[in-house]
Amino acid sequence: MTITAEIKKVKKQPVRGMMDNVMQQFNNAADQIDLHPSIRKILSITNNEIIVNFPVKMDNGEVEVFRGYRVQHNSALGPYKGGLRYHPTVDIDAARALAMWMTWKTSLAGLPYGGGKGGIQLDPSKYSKDELERITRRFTFALADNIGPEHDIPAPDVNTNSQTMAWIADTYMSTRPPAERTANQHVVTGKPAGSGGLEGRDRATGYGVYLTIKFWAEKKNINLDGKKFIVQGFGNVGYWAAHFLENEGAKLVAVQDAYGSIENQNGITVETLFNYSLENKGSIVGFPEAKALSNKDFFATACDICIPAALGNQITKNNASQIKATLIAEGANGPTNVEGEMILLDRGITIIPDILCNSGGVVGSYFEWLQNRNGELWQLDEVMAKLNKKLKESFNKVYEYSEKNALDMRTAAYCIAIQRIERAYIERGIFP
Ligand code: GLU
Repeated sequence: MTITAEIKKVKKQPVRGMMDNVMQQFNNAADQIDLHPSIRKILSITNNEIIVNFPVKMDNGEVEVFRGYRVQHNSALGPYKGGLRYHPTVDIDAARALAMWMTWKTSLAGLPYGGGKGGIQLDPSKYSKDELERITRRFTFALADNIGPEHDIPAPDVNTNSQTMAWIADTYMSTRPPAERTANQHVVTGKPAGSGGLEGRDRATGYGVYLTIKFWAEKKNINLDGKKFIVQGFGNVGYWAAHFLENEGAKLVAVQDAYGSIENQNGITVETLFNYSLENKGSIVGFPEAKALSNKDFFATACDICIPAALGNQITKNNASQIKATLIAEGANGPTNVEGEMILLDRGITIIPDILCNSGGVVGSYFEWLQNRNGELWQLDEVMAKLNKKLKESFNKVYEYSEKNALDMRTAAYCIAIQRIERAYIERGIFP
């Protein structure tokens, strides 16, 4: 079967995996802008897919073999960019879809990057810190010829953090000839501030989620003070988004994490919950100032704003009709599938799409990359001000496009992102 025939087949299927979902979103926008058919073909498929199987010695002396992925979707606008996640749901379908989302995200943000994504299929809670370090270093070694500071630049994602990035940077640099070692620090972003990381990169994604909500509220003349919000996922993205929204006077009323859900309509203090989770092996379950909520009722909680900030495919045709919020701010990648989205849009619910809503993370990564490349050290206030400016520009572009063309914000964001890539292809033509 030719690639084109395969793409047509995908388009006709109902929403199944993440790749189906992103393809339907893409085709919808491509139809809107009448995307050049050759460019539709190119963007419908990934450039490179790297799968590595590698052995690691466990603490008990036994050897386990892990499977890692890095999918490089498109590099028309610059080096591949995107996170590495450690999660049991990581497979080739997820890596392809997530890489594609990165291409749209970096394009929409106006960054000189393409899109990539990867990770390892594992449950990190089952491994010791030493084991995770060896797994990360061996994965980096296996990937070393396929990543690079001007070629493919990983970053944190689900269950990976600045510590993971420090191990990757150190391992990658160790594989380079001595004179090139330190010049390769920007092979990953999201490093600890003491090891070339950017001040504020930790909060950049959550801050961006909050900013896009604030910009939307300003357009709609809505005061965030007293508004109720719920957050799915209390990791880096969910926590920081909640932190900034609470500062604005909004009230966190329900949270869900990998272990369960909690609710308190009178408000949950973000910092108190965060400290509780630190002492409770990273879980919010059992928080004394809230009652337990069943996971299936989480999205039906009374609130004004819903922030899915965990995994993909969470809002679907099974729960979209129960959602009470009038605004969904997608902190996660792909949390709403197209069937769920159709229900939400029919109900007049606004969605700030992932490729805009959570783009503060990769914008922060770009700043870190620049900082490393230029041998600079940026201050936190400078970083936050630059993030604010960049996200405002992106938000306004999407909002205006959606108003002008009577489109939902996701389709508008896709149209802008795809058109930038289309232009690059048209200017350059196809080699040879
Ligand atoms: N993992 C984040 C995302 O999905 C950040 C990617 C990056 O900074 O490269 O956007």
